[in-house]
Amino acid sequence: MNKKWNFNWEEKKTEIKEKNEKKQSFGDSRFWKLKLNDKKEGQALIRFLPDRDQDLFVKFYSHSFMFKDIKGKDIYYNHKCATTIPEGKCPICVKNRDLYNSPHKADKEAWGKRKRKTHYVSNILVIKDPAAPENEGKVFLLDYGQQIYDLYSQKFFGTTIKENGKDVIQSDNEVIFCPSDFYQGADFIIRSTKEPSDAFNSYRKSTFNKQNPIFKELSESEREEAINKLMEQVYDLSEWENPDLYPTAKQVLDKVGFLLGEESEESARPSPKSEPVKAKKSEPAPVKEESDFDDKEDSKLSEESFDDDEAFLASLKD
Ligand SMILES: [Zn+2]
Repeated sequence: MNKKWNFNWEEKKTEIKEKNEKKQSFGDSRFWKLKLNDKKEGQALIRFLPDRDQDLFVKFYSHSFMFKDIKGKDIYYNHKCATTIPEGKCPICVKNRDLYNSPHKADKEAWGKRKRKTHYVSNILVIKDPAAPENEGKVFLLDYGQQIYDLYSQKFFGTTIKENGKDVIQSDNEVIFCPSDFYQGADFIIRSTKEPSDAFNSYRKSTFNKQNPIFKELSESEREEAINKLMEQVYDLSEWENPDLYPTAKQVLDKVGFLLGEESEESARPSPKSEPVKAKKSEPAPVKEESDFDDKEDSKLSEESFDDDEAFLASLKD
């Protein structure tokens, strides 16, 4: 009897279930996350890596906040902010300017909830991950905030102070180096701590080790080989420059327009001029563009969050 096509559906079931669970809990499996215990504490040893274009990190913005829809149902808005890309228009940021400048407490609070958050993304090698040893030796992306960025940039640029409006390096004795360099760089102890009184965990206790070559236990030739392998695995950071990653003003207004006191511009008054351009733009991957936006992005509510800077608010003024 020919049993060539006798499939094992139990295996398939497990595979689908695993895939679904992975998507729900991690969103994008290319990203590594520090596993935290019940007290929101944890640590691991990682090494920042450059990508193949020598890019160390990419910066992007997002909005994540809870709101009630027209029926009073709680909805979680969690999407990238189009102000990341040149010419990008974000109705939430535009409204935030008014809320920020408003004398009313409720408006200021709404601004606080909806303000854009700063993210940085870098390639990393996970060296030691006590809570998830299966990650050790693998290349991932790390999505981090201002606290870790500040630690990184302090090594890269030095500790600077303002002198006559210019950034000046504070001390001649400070060792300045690129943490992502394979030879002169340093491993990074990423550490999350949380005081019971704090609302969120903090990464301020993270620190760079002393400078040492990557794979310091290997011989020089073995190291070169290992670095070559790493560079085959690093992710191209230019991905974040793709405008399709960011919701259009219309997509934002379709979701939260009522919250901003605005209707979707396109649905309110169709603009025949801009329509053909739009249709053409979305032609190659119309489904992807839509699903990118609709996919719930990874929950970030427990992560550090950052303020809009004054300069950004000022830039919105026209
Ligand atoms: Zn925005």
